[in-house]
Amino acid sequence: MQVYSINSFSILPLYFTGKSNASDKVSTKEQSQKDYDIPFVDTNSVLKMREKKGETIMKKSIKDLGDIEGKRALVRVDINVPLDADKNVTDDTRIQAIMPTVNYLKDKGAKVILMAHLGRPKGEWNTEFSLEPVAKYMSKVMGEDVLFVSTPVGKGAEKELENLKDGQVALLENIRFYKAEEAKDDDMTFANELAKLGDFYVNDAFGAAHRNHTSTAKLAKVLKPAVSGLLMEKEIRCLSQALENPVRPFTAVVGGAKVSSKIGVLENLSDKVDNLIIGGGMAYTFVKANGGNIGKSICENDQLDVAKNIEKKAQEKGVKLVLPIDVLVTDDFSGNGTNKVVDVNNIPDEFEGVDAGPKTQKEFEDVIKSSKTILMNGPVGAFENPAFAEGTKAVLDAIVEATENGAISVIGGGDSVSAAKKLSDADKFTHVSTGGGASLEFIEGKVLPGVAALDNK
Ligand code: AMP
Repeated sequence: MQVYSINSFSILPLYFTGKSNASDKVSTKEQSQKDYDIPFVDTNSVLKMREKKGETIMKKSIKDLGDIEGKRALVRVDINVPLDADKNVTDDTRIQAIMPTVNYLKDKGAKVILMAHLGRPKGEWNTEFSLEPVAKYMSKVMGEDVLFVSTPVGKGAEKELENLKDGQVALLENIRFYKAEEAKDDDMTFANELAKLGDFYVNDAFGAAHRNHTSTAKLAKVLKPAVSGLLMEKEIRCLSQALENPVRPFTAVVGGAKVSSKIGVLENLSDKVDNLIIGGGMAYTFVKANGGNIGKSICENDQLDVAKNIEKKAQEKGVKLVLPIDVLVTDDFSGNGTNKVVDVNNIPDEFEGVDAGPKTQKEFEDVIKSSKTILMNGPVGAFENPAFAEGTKAVLDAIVEATENGAISVIGGGDSVSAAKKLSDADKFTHVSTGGGASLEFIEGKVLPGVAALDNK
């Protein structure tokens, strides 16, 4: 049995693969200016709609703050970047993604104190997970010194931050070195300690917004104003726009390995979209539920009823469910065996489906190209192997074409983001989400603690 990257959604650092060359000195200023405004979204109407439904997410952002010159901005960011054995940053996408917020605050003359985590030190002080190499890398990106603060709280931190100048940036040591960061209790001691370091709180860590941790949520209750950063704002706007106020036809492409990890997504989408494309490994559970022969294809036998219910719900709501017609099958998941295209309902016993076939690709492409809003969550094949990547590439190309013709496209979730970067050009989509688990929960319709805790407009 081969190993699938099941549930990598919530465990993989996002933007795992990337084209940015981490050793280059990168100018972020123009990028940041470009990202200050997101023109296509009517934020207020979208957010008001959610507010009406009791999900108050009309949140203040740093753009709503008055004069912040000389003030200390305590900013939670998600810079959980991959490092190699020599502690070099191998993909800096997450660092680039927070630069608009950092530059905005710098330009306004604030003292910028960044708070973040790296990996999972589980409340232990473990230099293996130190953010010092990230501070060094950021200094290179920004072309100026980013002060690394080795003691993130208390008198030590206050001392190290004493001489921070207006417009200067500091990065605190890994906040997860403290057990209190992730503690599931109501104790506010750690939050109150951290709060002493700032005059206001900014959350730009969308990727950690589904966590109810001290630096992502509790802190917003004790350090005011508590506002979103520009990345957080953009994530919420783009995902909300797609989900709550889509220009129609609205199509969702849901793929990936398992139905069970995406039930919430499928259920929430099945009364919002016009077309629901189901591809990838999860499609075989649907095919089997309808009596097809799926050979050795990945299937969750305990989810057959779930698949039937999703189909029923889609039918009741007038949602067009688009399932594969033909598939590429293989008798060797490594790609070195026999690969052939067969009818999705007649997969030979020794074969398993690994990618969308040509008729399916055409079907998916046609639906996507006639759509005005497209949300993609999960690949439609085992795309990590180039032999099985054609279907996912066809889907991505169709989304790019639709986007070029005016559609809004949002790519969410770790594997889709990797696929978009590997097989396409991430810049060609309207929005590529930086949050894996967070975007999944958002699409499921859940309220994210890190968003909920921020000040309302
Ligand atoms: P998920 O984390 O549920 O979004 O699943 C993503 C993973 O699903 C990717 O690593 C793909 O390789 C895998 N996947 C997609 N289609 C298939 C398939 N037909 N058979 C096996 N794995 C697949």
